[in-house]
Amino acid sequence: MNYKFIICNWKMNCDQEYFNQINSILSNYTIKKEYKLIICPPLTLLNQENIINFEIGAQNCASEEFGSYTGEVSARMISQSNARYVIIGHSERRKYFNEKPELILKKMDQVMDNNLTPIVCVKRFYEDKEYIKNLIFNFISNVKTKNLLIAYEPEESIGSGIPDNLYSIQENIESIKDIYRNHNLNDKNIFVIYGGSVDKNNIKEIISISDGVLIGKASINLEQFIQIIKII
Ligand code: PEP
Repeated sequence: MNYKFIICNWKMNCDQEYFNQINSILSNYTIKKEYKLIICPPLTLLNQENIINFEIGAQNCASEEFGSYTGEVSARMISQSNARYVIIGHSERRKYFNEKPELILKKMDQVMDNNLTPIVCVKRFYEDKEYIKNLIFNFISNVKTKNLLIAYEPEESIGSGIPDNLYSIQENIESIKDIYRNHNLNDKNIFVIYGGSVDKNNIKEIISISDGVLIGKASINLEQFIQIIKII
């Protein structure tokens, strides 16, 4: 099935009350079956019950399975919560926590080995070409995980209110897809989504040329969020 993914990244925002509000709003809608809505709240909100019309994802995980890494939470621990997806390598993690591609690939292994679906963020194709190749081959060689989501997120579009233009989004997405198409590797499910200032006004157009979107700010603004839900 050709799903369209709508991933909401709450970052270090929102609380249980907001979560309950969202859950109750979503129970009043029917999400079209080609859409998969995934909400990625802070870690403390991963263990939710009776969620309606959406799934849960984490925003990060450790690169190791267990051990003396104070403050870290492993993919294995996340797999024991309600989360089924994990965002890794978000550009804020690369910028503020100095995460490098090698570390992100280790996190990706942890995510896949624990039967979770990785949502790996990448920058523009020309900036991250080798890294994108490596993460695709890493996925292809893993037997456990069925799906990979790659989120193309140009750094300057994140949180700026200025999304990348449609031509550039399409070009970057196609360059990523060409990596596995050129190697006849489209037997596994790789979805390439776009993130960076997606909102209720531009989501329709962006979804039409991608496998979905990663939404930050607009997903924690109730009015924006409801409009987006009405579209899907
Ligand atoms: C993000 O942080 O991944 C993101 C896309 O944020 P925003 O939608 O606010 O640009």
